[in-house]
Amino acid sequence: MTLNADLHCHSTVSDGLLAPAELARRAHGNGVELWALTDHDETGGLAEARAAAEEAGLRFVNGVEVSVSWGEDQTVHIVGLGFDAAYQPLLDGLAQVRGGRDSRAARMAAELDKVGIHGAYEGALKYVGNPALISRSHFARYIVELGHAKDVKSVFDWWLAKGKPGYVSHPWATLEDALGWIHGAGGIAVIAHPGRYRLTKAELRQMFGVFKDLGGRGIEVISGSHGEDEMREYARVAREFGFLASRASDFHGPGESWIDLGRLPPLPEDLTPVWSELI
Ligand code: AMP
Ligand code: MN
Ligand code: MN
Ligand code: MN
Repeated sequence: MTLNADLHCHSTVSDGLLAPAELARRAHGNGVELWALTDHDETGGLAEARAAAEEAGLRFVNGVEVSVSWGEDQTVHIVGLGFDAAYQPLLDGLAQVRGGRDSRAARMAAELDKVGIHGAYEGALKYVGNPALISRSHFARYIVELGHAKDVKSVFDWWLAKGKPGYVSHPWATLEDALGWIHGAGGIAVIAHPGRYRLTKAELRQMFGVFKDLGGRGIEVISGSHGEDEMREYARVAREFGFLASRASDFHGPGESWIDLGRLPPLPEDLTPVWSELI
């Protein structure tokens, strides 16, 4: 029997639809045995998540998903797991990353205004649970509300993905800083959904190499964003680079995610699960 671990999801503290405690109950109800909440650039939901998980008898590890700038205007996401959530340099670093989001949102709204989507900043704010954490997902929900797209996914395809009218480039954390904060707090750094980045195979491999040189240890092999081919590909990468493998739904909420909490295929048996270092 393999462990039903799900080490990546989002609450209303970032761009998810459910509160941390609701996620804990849903994870437990779905059979998850080891769970991490990994809000974007924010650890504010961890205490509530842990308390609700403990009440449900669900094992919990601290998590966060850090936004990182890479190469020429690329964003990669690094999940930190099992860190000390009171480690001040991590909290300060995340606060600094979050700090840029509001002005970015204002720039996004100005760009969207030019193409006929008006009032997007105020509109997105209606969907924001944490004022410090306005994200493209909140804009997407408002644009769906306006009727410009049928669902959140299509909003990204038409308006918010790189190269689309509402996309603005933004400086996130450096990979070095993100890993420094996670490692300083005693955590493990994991490359989130490697199949999602618009990088060539060679560029991806270069990123994996730098990540490893900086002490990064894990990669999401099983991800809600991965098809079967990608799971096979990143299992190969985990073997080649000696990475610990993670299993991660990236659940954002009912109706907005590919896969529900814990409803993921198992890791290939020969890989070392990242949770072998967490429990
Ligand atoms: P941000 O951190 O503000 O750039 O927002 C990134 C978030 O937008 C991701 O974590 C996803 O929740 C969401 N997102 C990005 N691309 C897509 C997509 N193609 N379809 C649906 N959601 C997406
Ligand atoms: Mn998200
Ligand atoms: Mn992500
Ligand atoms: Mn995520």
